[in-house]
Amino acid sequence: MALMGQMMSAPLLISSIIKHAARYYGGTEIVSRRTEGDLHRYTYRECELRARKLAQALGALGVKQGDRVGTLAWNGYRHLEIYYGVSGMGAVCHTINPRLFPEQIAYIVNHAEDGYVFFDLTFLPLVEGVAPHCPNVKGWVLMSDRAHMPAESKAKLLCYEDLIDAQDGNYEWPQFDENQASSLCYTSGTTGNPKGALYSHRSTVLHSYASALPDALGCSARDVILPVVPMFHVNAWGMPYSVPLVGAKLVFPGARLDGASLYELFEQEKVTFSAGVPTVWLGLLQHVQANNLKFSTFRRTVIGGSAVPPAMTRALEALDVEVIHAWGMTEMSPLGTACKLLAKHEALSDADRHKILEKQGRVIYGVDMKIVDGDGKELPWDGKAFGDLMVRGPWIIDRYFRNDANPLVDGWFPTGDVATIDEDGYMQITDRSKDVIKSGGEWISSIDIENVAAAHPAVHMAACISAYHPKWDERPLLVVVKKPNAEVSKEELLKFFEGKVAKWWIPDDVAFVSEIPLTATGKMQKLRLREQFKDYRLPTA
Ligand code: AMP
Repeated sequence: MALMGQMMSAPLLISSIIKHAARYYGGTEIVSRRTEGDLHRYTYRECELRARKLAQALGALGVKQGDRVGTLAWNGYRHLEIYYGVSGMGAVCHTINPRLFPEQIAYIVNHAEDGYVFFDLTFLPLVEGVAPHCPNVKGWVLMSDRAHMPAESKAKLLCYEDLIDAQDGNYEWPQFDENQASSLCYTSGTTGNPKGALYSHRSTVLHSYASALPDALGCSARDVILPVVPMFHVNAWGMPYSVPLVGAKLVFPGARLDGASLYELFEQEKVTFSAGVPTVWLGLLQHVQANNLKFSTFRRTVIGGSAVPPAMTRALEALDVEVIHAWGMTEMSPLGTACKLLAKHEALSDADRHKILEKQGRVIYGVDMKIVDGDGKELPWDGKAFGDLMVRGPWIIDRYFRNDANPLVDGWFPTGDVATIDEDGYMQITDRSKDVIKSGGEWISSIDIENVAAAHPAVHMAACISAYHPKWDERPLLVVVKKPNAEVSKEELLKFFEGKVAKWWIPDDVAFVSEIPLTATGKMQKLRLREQFKDYRLPTA
């Protein structure tokens, strides 16, 4: 008979994180820019008390374990209270991306069967439009006080502060099975309807531990952390959990994510660490460079969600900010890999070190990955062979919420990304499989092309898509937004590629546009670009 270990059994519950922060970092601050317009400050101790009151209020409203509660909200302290109040009582915190189309939001609310939806003041008009299409929602909770409640509304409105004020906080977090569902995020659904990833308490707590490790986000109680990545985008990459877990000060930017507003908050609150998608850093960098500013405390940032152009890494480094490139997806809670150097890399030249730092990095413990060819055969880790990236692990999806199809292949989740892995286990995404450009049967990495273009001083943003070619089937077309007041010709830009990529990878043409459409999570919307340019005639055709 097996000999069992003799250690205490304690379920890994999300409530334990906020309890820990309140007990051991009780005086540490949480600072939030509110939609009401002011700056709000309080501590982990106060946050936990209000989360308990919220759990009581939800109980009083009839919310039970397993019920779904939606949110349409920015990064802020009330949203954090909902994360803990809802999951802590055993219900499911369902964060909804308010940047989706109203029809998609209604679909998601109905598919998830949200009983209540909490929302920020900003989204009142959105809620007014969506509410008539969500008959099963019993109440829409405005995350503000009585003074901000509208006189009348088409939606059944409740007031957040009234709900909290009605409770005494005399509440013990319940203990239950760590495999119970804790939270729900829908993928942005570029094709078909969005699909739900249903996380558990166990998967979330394990992901929080792992993501805080030094070779991942590397969070410490000494940090001041500002998650720019929204709490409606894969739980802000788990930071609402990992930051209280380590006891760091938290700073929430609310709705103001432009460069000037972020810079002001970074300086004022002495932020040391942040995380967000490349498009956000583009705005911040532009503001800092245009005004000749410096960061006095900001020293590290994790960038992911789409590939980080090396030019962005260089620009941040010039401001003494270390860039940690990370990769993941909604289906992975989301963190899979992060790019930090090994000790042996310190001896490399600056250029060689940066070649590594461009990659999406090594897995964090808990995630296992492999690349396979079209027949499912595993490919070598030589940094050259590229194939479909597959993952598995305790915080990776097993199946989608209320969907019978099995997404796995032999127990592995196919990410839809195409990647290489080198001898040291550094993974590099060459493309999303749908975005890869197939020229005469050979593949061209759109990310590589975009990275070169982004390094040109006149380029603000660049997307590389396939355009129809009668001989090669597909050829790369570069779509470019120029920096304000910058000038560059098509010929100059194409010349810039010479010697930087294989000759046949150089785009056939450049299209200058005023704007590149972004998805609800700030990624370049290549599907829409491809539609926009579907009848484009390449000069080489
Ligand atoms: P989402 O679930 O919306 O976060 O999207 C996940 C997808 O974003 C991944 O499957 C990748 O295609 C893409 N992605 C995330 N991080 C990166 C990265 N660092 N580099 C390139 N693509 C990325």
